Amino acid sequence: MTTPHHPLLPAHGPASSASGGGLQGDRAPAPVVSLVGAGPGDPELLTVKALKRLQQAEVVLTDDLVDARVLACVPVAARVLRVGKRGGCVSTEQRFIHELMIREARAGARVVRLKGGDPFVFGRGGEEVDALREAGLEVEVINGLSAGLAAPASVGVPVTDRRCTPGVAFVTGHNGEHGTLPDWAALARSRLTLVVYMGLARASVISQSLMEGGLAPSTPAVIVSAAHTPRQRECFTTLAALPSDIEAHALQSPALLVIGTVVALSAAWREQAGLAVRPGPAVPSDAGEGSGAAAAFQAA
Ligand code: SAH
Repeated sequence: MTTPHHPLLPAHGPASSASGGGLQGDRAPAPVVSLVGAGPGDPELLTVKALKRLQQAEVVLTDDLVDARVLACVPVAARVLRVGKRGGCVSTEQRFIHELMIREARAGARVVRLKGGDPFVFGRGGEEVDALREAGLEVEVINGLSAGLAAPASVGVPVTDRRCTPGVAFVTGHNGEHGTLPDWAALARSRLTLVVYMGLARASVISQSLMEGGLAPSTPAVIVSAAHTPRQRECFTTLAALPSDIEAHALQSPALLVIGTVVALSAAWREQAGLAVRPGPAVPSDAGEGSGAAAAFQAA
């Protein structure tokens, strides 16, 4: 593994302390465990602070989702432990991750828990913080760029454009072990842009539930797979055609579903020929401030 030189920071290994640095927050003694957001893929989307912690790490516990190019920022001497839980028994593995972090931190290692996107967005970061604190350890959380923000932007979708929507909702499409599913009917009425994590496998139910809740079948949507990685693929579609397009184009996880009139503001949507259905307002009956631009676009 190599340690690329970040333009803002001196290249240094784990032995180099941050105490001499000029950036805010450098003077505090290093916390025992750092929960670090790795962003969606491209290492240039790491925060400066995340990169710094990676360069100081002695032990890194990493998720499956973390891009190899981000892992390449870790010093060669650091131990990288892959603790992804794809296809495994979730509860046992999560407990195992907690135990491993606690053991390594108690042994005095500078531990980085590296998580895809942002550690507190659908990443079980909260549970990990609880476990570490209960074990009497200090924790710091370093944000990462969540895929829910990065993926729509990568295809030109401004998620909170005021001409279309009062805001955005980040929701899960998968009711993990103890999680609950969103109230799709309430979301359909909300006029919010919907960014659905882990929704690929249940896209059919999601699409159906949103339409039953009153969202127009023609509502613009885009599926973004592996955003900010060399494998990125996207498919512009509509709410009604979302499930069939996932199948037709064999779109793979990790992927996000972005649903709402803002999708039609993307230049890529506008350029795409062959869309049978023109975009329309999310909830035509609720003509608030938000529906004007969508209607104007439809007429354009
Ligand atoms: N903490 C992560 C989310 C973890 S949940 C974050 O903030 O991004 C895992 C889900 O995130 C995946 O099922 C997928 O829906 C989404 N995801 C993560 N990385 C992605 C990427 N590069 N492109 C598209 N979706 C991604």
